[in-house]
Amino acid sequence: MRYNETMITLPHEVKDFMSVFKKKGHRIYVVGGAVRDFLLGNTTENWDFTTSATPDQILALFPDGFYNNQFGTVGIATLVEDKKMIFEVTTFRKEGEYKDGRHPETVSWATTIEEDLARRDFTVNAIAFDGKEYTDPYDGRADIKKKRIRSVGEPDKRFQEDALRLMRAIRFTSELGFLIEDKTRESIQRNAALLTKISSERIRDELMKILLSDNPAEGILFMRNTGLLTFVLPEVDMCFIIPQKSPKRHHVYDVGTHLVMALKHCPSKDPITRLATLLHDIGKAETFRRDDETSIITFYNHEVVGARLAEKIATRLKLSNEEKKKLITLVAHHQFTVSESQTDKSVRRFIRDIGIELIQDMLDLRTGDRIGSGATPTSWRLDLFKKRLIEVQKIPFQIKDLQIKGEDVMEILKLNPGPKVGKILKNIFNDVEEGRLKNERPVLLEEIKKLK
Ligand code: ATP
Ligand code: MG
Repeated sequence: MRYNETMITLPHEVKDFMSVFKKKGHRIYVVGGAVRDFLLGNTTENWDFTTSATPDQILALFPDGFYNNQFGTVGIATLVEDKKMIFEVTTFRKEGEYKDGRHPETVSWATTIEEDLARRDFTVNAIAFDGKEYTDPYDGRADIKKKRIRSVGEPDKRFQEDALRLMRAIRFTSELGFLIEDKTRESIQRNAALLTKISSERIRDELMKILLSDNPAEGILFMRNTGLLTFVLPEVDMCFIIPQKSPKRHHVYDVGTHLVMALKHCPSKDPITRLATLLHDIGKAETFRRDDETSIITFYNHEVVGARLAEKIATRLKLSNEEKKKLITLVAHHQFTVSESQTDKSVRRFIRDIGIELIQDMLDLRTGDRIGSGATPTSWRLDLFKKRLIEVQKIPFQIKDLQIKGEDVMEILKLNPGPKVGKILKNIFNDVEEGRLKNERPVLLEEIKKLK
């Protein structure tokens, strides 16, 4: 990442947009993620503005804008370099007292940009740019150069106002590859328990952003080291005290460290696959046994216990049904065996159990699991297994994948619809599945004719 302050030129669509405000005598600034992104030399799709104009005045300038009452933000659909984007414009705001650790009691309009920046969470998010000059009262630009996240003002007070900021701090470190400044980090540690005031949906959204980021494993470790993990994923937090180094075992890490390392090396970018990789061994805390005589550690059925815990977590985080099913399936089946002595039938059963659409995610979890245990990314066995996964899929999985239909059977054998037709199809399917017949239309039609 490079730091880039001198070369900032806003896209002309953004300049034109801002000049509509300026011509009417309103002040307007780019703030938040966009300023951060362009100071880091990254492109942005995230255009937030703050202005002295009230929502009514903004809507008078842009009648097509839509007003979100809850946040006092007007969204305006725009094209930037031919890409459709929403410009989010928020009137300068100052926030009243926070009593519940979640919402300010009152929100009122402010008159200066400085007041507005004072309510923002971190210095790197509290920089405003009017197209020519920066307003940067908290030295956010210096923090961007130093790659650090620091609270605006007194961190304890800011986290007590809105505890979601605890998660946001971690999220920005993993998205940006930054560290948290000492005082802010100590304050997160002190105030970690405030997370219990935050709804699980808001926590989930931040967790998903951490998982989606370039440094998800670092994010989870920061959560562990600051004490947030106890409140977000206690099941993972517990795993850091579960050892698994024992005679005749390949493990080099405790369970928790292994889970984080697996996440780090999981090649999938999908947040649910990444979450499944992070959770795959959580059942080990409950199933840990050490033999008194041999000192050998075992975790029998940990994938069964793990799947149950994954379901609990998915429910708690209010994942969608589809996400939940995917998470549970990946955790439940992560112990799949790859062996050269496996029959085609067992490889096909594996595909059927997991579902064809999840196979790549399952393999990605395995890759993370292997590297995260200190093994090589793949093995000849795993490579052979992947080849066989492709091979066995050349054979159909269900009767409906056959190259003939019930109509063909009825026509050739002059049958009416009925169970007999289904039975014939099933027999043909069995022959195809066991390799006695090829799934080719002429071959199968010929086979039906033999039944005349
Ligand atoms: P991204 O859009 O990538 O999540 P962002 O910095 O733009 O990053 P938003 O959630 O879009 O974050 O919020 C826009 C800005 O609003 C932030 O940069 C920050 O200045 C302010 N902000 C958002 N949430 C909070 C909060 N909980 N407390 C204080 N300020 C906040
Ligand atoms: Mg934003």
